[in-house]
Parts: sequence; structure tokens; C-alpha cells
Amino acid sequence: MAIQTFTSKITNKVFLNDDVFMMTLSCPEEFTFKAGQFVTIRVNNGEESKLRSYSILNPPSEKGKIDLCIKIIEGGFASENFKDIKEGDEYEVKGPFGHFMFDENSENKEHWLISNGTGVVPMYSIAKEFLPKNQEIKFTMLFGSKVKKDLIFHQEFIELAKEYPNFTYVPTLTREDWDGAQGRVQAHLPEDLKNKTFYICGLKELVVETKELLTEKGVDANHIKSERYS
Ligand SMILES: Cc1cc2nc3c(=O)[nH]c(=O)nc-3n(C[C@H](O)[C@H](O)[C@H](O)COP(=O)(O)OP(=O)(O)OC[C@H]3O[C@@H](n4cnc5c(N)ncnc54)[C@H](O)[C@@H]3O)c2cc1C
Repeated sequence: MAIQTFTSKITNKVFLNDDVFMMTLSCPEEFTFKAGQFVTIRVNNGEESKLRSYSILNPPSEKGKIDLCIKIIEGGFASENFKDIKEGDEYEVKGPFGHFMFDENSENKEHWLISNGTGVVPMYSIAKEFLPKNQEIKFTMLFGSKVKKDLIFHQEFIELAKEYPNFTYVPTLTREDWDGAQGRVQAHLPEDLKNKTFYICGLKELVVETKELLTEKGVDANHIKSERYS
């Protein structure tokens, strides 16, 4: 897939919770990517410019745009810049990059999509791309958060689970009592780990600990795919 560099205009920006916003960027009609991949954005603060990576939210079948979800981190170089962005602002975008892609041809027909925070973004793209195409594949989305308000796209995942019997959504909270699952994502991994592929995305702790646990329990490295945000 050819890597392209282009100037992109923000056509929409909306906050999903206190510190995560979603923005839509324009892109050339011929821009293509695979669900799970990311782009880089050049961020300039007037003194220097730095590249930052962001997973693509929309499925590749939704062409002509790139949706991103970005968590504002206090004091972060790009985050400080993003606080003030508005529709019409332009950025240099490059991509697509990355190997964190769904393996359609896997011998395994059960796939666990495990994430926290904005790590759910590539999972969203994967689920939206492949659920309409293939009802034979079983997905379980395990999504961890401290509190419910930070489960971005919670309602959409509930709706997807209603629409597709082969999609199971398991949100789990560590710091709020509710009627759903409690505790860290690792507590909700399946007992039987055989014939399953695990896709893990998010902050370092989640990715490292989950991979270690799965490896200790005998899951083959070929059946663990991961993307680290930090
Ligand atoms: C392949 C890839 C895909 C990514 N996709 C996304 C995405 O879809 N959405 C998104 O918000 N971020 C994503 N990131 C993280 C993003 O690239 C930046 O690191 C993040 O936006 C912080 O940049 P900054 O310049 O504001 O902070 P910086 O000045 O670079 O650093 C601030 C601190 O925040 C830490 N940090 C980075 N990401 C997070 C986070 N999500 N939560 C808490 N702390 C963090 C860093 O480790 C660092 O210690 C991705 C990273 C990679 C490598």
C-alpha cells in the first residue's frame, strides 16, 4: 500500500468526553489503508515541528476521509496544539503505516480485540470493516477503562453487538461500580486460549502485561498482535 503525504483540512471536530476528541480530516480520494493502520500528523508549535502517530478510526470502506480520536494529555507537545484546533485548520498527514491489521486469512476463527483508552480506535475500524463482510468470524471486544464515561463508542459497540450475533462486547471498569464487568481486562480473558488470535492496543502496561500473560499461558506469538501507544 503506497505511503502518501498530503495536506489535510479538518472538516469536523467533536469531544467524546472531557479529554478525548474526534476529528475528521480530508484526504485524497485515492488514499487507501487497512483497518488497524495509522497515520502521522506533523504538529508545529511555532518553534519546532514533531510527528505524532494516530490510528485511523473509520473503516477503509468509508473513503475520502480520515477520522481520528485523540486524547489530550496535559503538557503534551501535540496535545497542547490540538486544544485550539478548529475546522478549516490544515495539517501535513502521512500514511498509512503499521502492521496492526486484522488477518482475514487466519486459521483461527475467534478473535479477541483487547484495548483501553484510545487503543479502541483501531478495533473500531476492524469491527466496522469486517463484521458486515464475514459472519463466520467471531469477535470479542474487551475494552477496559477506569470509569464508564471514558468508554468511547460504548453505545455504538452495544448496537453492534445487537446487530451482529458474532460480536460480543465486554466493557470492564476498574474504578466505578456498575452492572457490567469489573476489574482489569486481563481478568476477562477466555479460559480456553486455543485457536484464538489476540489483538491488543493501548498504553504500555496493558500491552506488555497482556502479552506476557498470554505467552505464559502458551499462546503462540503468531496469535498475538499488538500496537503500543506509549
Ligand atoms: C502507532 C500509534 C498509534 C497511536 N494512536 C493514537 C490514537 O489513536 N489516539 C491517541 O490519543 N494517541 C495515539 N497514539 C499516541 C500519540 O502518538 C501521542 O503519543 C499522544 O497523542 C501524545 O502526544 P503529545 O505530543 O501530546 O505528548 P508528548 O509530549 O509526546 O508526551 C506526553 C506523555 O504522554 C504519554 N502518552 C502518550 N499517549 C498517551 C495516552 N493515550 N494516554 C496517556 N498518556 C499518553 C507519553 O508516553 C508521554 O509520556 C498513538 C501512538 C502510536 C505509536
